Amino acid sequence: EGPLQLLALSKTCLRDCFPSLDVGDAFDLLGTPRLASGSTVQQDEPAPHAAREELTSVLGGRSVLANFSDIPEEAYAPWSLRYCGHQFGVWAGQLGDGRAISILETPNLSPNAQGQVWELQLKGAGRTPFSRTADGLAVLRSSIREFFCAEAMHALGIPTSRSLSLVGLPEVPVEREKMETAAICSRVAPSFIRIGNFEACNGPNQVFLFGGGGKLEKGWEGIRKLTEWTKRLLGVHSTQDMVREIAKRNMRMCAGWQVYGFMHGVMNTDNISVMGLTIDYGPYAFMDIYDPHHICNHTDQEGRYSYRLQPTMIFFAVTALKEAIGPLVGAEVESGSPAAEGWAEGADEEKIESWKEKGMEAMKNVEAECMKIFQEEHWRLFRQRLGLKEQVASDPDKIVRPFLDLLETHSMDFHSAFRALASFSPSSPDAVLDRLLESSCSLQTRQSWQEWLKTYAERLEQEKSVDVERKERMRLANPRFVLRQWVLEEVIKRAQDDAEGSRPLLMKVLDMASRPFEPWGAEDQLDKADEELDEETREER
Ligand code: AMP
Ligand code: MG
Ligand code: MG
Repeated sequence: EGPLQLLALSKTCLRDCFPSLDVGDAFDLLGTPRLASGSTVQQDEPAPHAAREELTSVLGGRSVLANFSDIPEEAYAPWSLRYCGHQFGVWAGQLGDGRAISILETPNLSPNAQGQVWELQLKGAGRTPFSRTADGLAVLRSSIREFFCAEAMHALGIPTSRSLSLVGLPEVPVEREKMETAAICSRVAPSFIRIGNFEACNGPNQVFLFGGGGKLEKGWEGIRKLTEWTKRLLGVHSTQDMVREIAKRNMRMCAGWQVYGFMHGVMNTDNISVMGLTIDYGPYAFMDIYDPHHICNHTDQEGRYSYRLQPTMIFFAVTALKEAIGPLVGAEVESGSPAAEGWAEGADEEKIESWKEKGMEAMKNVEAECMKIFQEEHWRLFRQRLGLKEQVASDPDKIVRPFLDLLETHSMDFHSAFRALASFSPSSPDAVLDRLLESSCSLQTRQSWQEWLKTYAERLEQEKSVDVERKERMRLANPRFVLRQWVLEEVIKRAQDDAEGSRPLLMKVLDMASRPFEPWGAEDQLDKADEELDEETREER
């Protein structure tokens, strides 16, 4: 109901996922058309307007893509996938996907894509067969949060779903803690399959809805089909290897989270992607003051999803996957070949149990293997942030941990400290202290930093680090712009007050999140957006 507002489009997502779409044209669709100075608006030129309406209507969930209507509905139509999951460690049964509707799969045209596709999904476009009693909607606040963060994470080099568009529905009220209005974020990934999808078919009576038109699979056959599908997505050949690949990808992703201070907040098994992508952005946060115990989700009273426990919680999800897929793996181990259709027909509970035991045994080293990958990636990324090229065995203990300890002890800002360090010169070690520390800090604080900087300088000397090169490397590894809570709050407030009017600000913040290493002025980030807004208005006038 009511109008749709196309509030933002991600240029980088368009370029990366839909390169055949003309980016220039797409952007002309956003907001007031940009006119070359001196030209006038042609009253009888409806084309851009009509194109914008059409795009908005598709991204707003009002109409299906034109060529969809030629395809038989049962073969290919907008679809949702049912899933189950463990929420805060507790089995929650069927819970999703009640508000995500995929509308399109298109070939990934990048040269190393190996037959992958991009799936375009609308979040909050209304009820699906799995909505239960909920409304299938998302509010503007949470849609803005998801829209920005996926693009910010991608820019930081952390595997994630992408965001394409943000559409507001100003006349659709949504009842949450207070009344808000609806919005739809469209997002893109090679697949949105998550561990919860596997958990949805680990039983004889579980139903697994595969694809569009609703081909219903009952019983154990669903998990085999889902496995076949996922193996192809991941380019692996055995079910065991699929589990290993899922675990590794998620641990690699999680290393990125840790090193860039990202806290997901709701690492339920239904929010863990089989592609190892960060998905389902909710109450996430980036670390401000470094505190490994930080909990960003206020409903997470026990701190299950606190920063320091994130790798552990990936393991919890991997274990849930192993439990779900155990019988299939066991059956394959027993027969020495991939399971065929009807693999579990006639198997009683005892048989399933014994397969599961075999399967679990075969996968028992998965976590240990992944821990190694996590450690390597984690220290590699920290070295990168510190501008270190060579891998020295003592780096974690001599350089990285002491650095983090200092941040924690002195309640210092995580990202600012890294960025400040990028200006460090061993020849004048004290200069960086003025950037790192407040002038009022204690002599003792200053001394402990001086000591660390001395060790750091020696370490740089050890690898014959070239100062200018290191500084440039560090500038490109340590963001100047971080999507902090206050930035989000400010943007959300403005968009809630006047969505159309906030469009230039939304696009500006998106631009900053997409190019976080640029030397944006930290304090005047939003003022700058305002300035440019005025400039644009002036230009138009
Ligand atoms: P989340 O905690 O956001 O990951 O949500 C878990 C699942 O609950 C999602 O996958 C959705 O399917 C479902 N859900 C959440 N909010 C809604 C809603 N407003 N309408 C329908 N389903 C919802
Ligand atoms: Mg979710
Ligand atoms: Mg959510």
